[in-house]
Amino acid sequence: MTATAAAPALPRAAADLKTAVCAAIDRRAEELAAIAEDIYLHPELGFKEFRTAKIVSQYFECLGLPHRDGLAITGVKAKLSGGSDGPTVAVLGELDSLAVGDHPHADPATGAAHACGHNAQIAMMLGVAAAFVDAGVAPSLAGSVAFIAVPAEEYVEIEYRNNLARQGKLEFLGGKPELIKLGEFDDVHLAMMTHTSSNKEDGLIGLSESSNGCIVKLIRFQGKAAHSGGAPHRGVNALNAATLALQAIHAQRETFKDADTVRVHPIITKGGEIVNVVPADVRMETFVRGKSIEAITDANVKVDRALKAGALAVGGKVVIETLPGYLPLRNDPAIGALFIENAKALVGAENVKPIGHRTGSTDMGDVTHIMPALHPYAGGAEGTGHGNDYRIADPRLAILNPAKAMAMTVLDLLCGGAAHAQRILAESKPRFTKDEYLAFQRRLTQTIQFDGASI
Ligand SMILES: [Zn+2]
Ligand SMILES: [Zn+2]
Repeated sequence: MTATAAAPALPRAAADLKTAVCAAIDRRAEELAAIAEDIYLHPELGFKEFRTAKIVSQYFECLGLPHRDGLAITGVKAKLSGGSDGPTVAVLGELDSLAVGDHPHADPATGAAHACGHNAQIAMMLGVAAAFVDAGVAPSLAGSVAFIAVPAEEYVEIEYRNNLARQGKLEFLGGKPELIKLGEFDDVHLAMMTHTSSNKEDGLIGLSESSNGCIVKLIRFQGKAAHSGGAPHRGVNALNAATLALQAIHAQRETFKDADTVRVHPIITKGGEIVNVVPADVRMETFVRGKSIEAITDANVKVDRALKAGALAVGGKVVIETLPGYLPLRNDPAIGALFIENAKALVGAENVKPIGHRTGSTDMGDVTHIMPALHPYAGGAEGTGHGNDYRIADPRLAILNPAKAMAMTVLDLLCGGAAHAQRILAESKPRFTKDEYLAFQRRLTQTIQFDGASI
């Protein structure tokens, strides 16, 4: 048997490869839908996505892609190196579920349920990876593609994550901030992911300009216990302090500018101990969201003032712990333009919608503050986002379309000597370097103690 050396593959243009990559995704259609369904039926909350991460790492293994796992506890990262040097584009998928106890496919033990469609994100990210391997695109890329399964996008179970932080297992409570801190984005220059949507007005593929950022507050009102009937005058009612604080927060709302899309939505997580004791320990949580860092900072000052006002009125104490949440999302318009052209070619221009500004938050916003990045939406989900009826109804729309649109966009960025990627990088002005970002996040973390009795 004689061996003949294969001739090195010549780089091909993006347009030539797009058909091959889309066909490769179609050939994997059933397999990708099955992966999304498997994850849907086995939901795991953030930083606990061990089973889901295993699915991802086994898939990378089958594709022959070098990868590392256990990043920020459960993250997995694979890399496909191109034929020549150049920038790295990351395609991300989020591993975690939500907790919606009455969802028909909620985990009976944990309440975890995929009510935000992240199961489809993992399938589409794996679809892009598989298609690039199947279609043999690597020699045509001037740069690399990183495939990153990211833990914990949903900002939930704050106490649990704070405990992980106290044990030194985390610093930040969201997956992408933690991966940024760990250096997993140091070798990434541009990034993208696609979220599913059940909103008909988002079209089959939709792209927003931006979305709100948020900070997170844990609040503890401290009063003094006493007999509720016999001697309430000996007590200090922490529940009254909290309800006054809620009213004081509401009184700020007329000062929020419409354009800042501020959202403050506190909940009381503990209202007292037992009914015949004056509440001495009342807990609240809230997010403070806004369109810009400045808007969030302004609203946060007002919320702190309102919380102190409640404590002051009853002569109690309040401890306000503020944690970094997510930065506002700023989609990169140049990557967006490439993505939209590909989306139009796939689903027709009439099915691609501009979305404007959204008032939810995602830690993809943090990524957009340190590099050009994109977070569009794809249809195919139905039900209420974060509700008990949310599910992926049409895998073709929710998995295959976004996988193809992202794959085509990566080809646009990295084929042809990565001219598009280099142009975007030359023109982009990220707000923060990584170090500036980390310093900013760390400055946000603070605890205020206010004693209303000492005024
Ligand atoms: Zn969500
Ligand atoms: Zn989500």
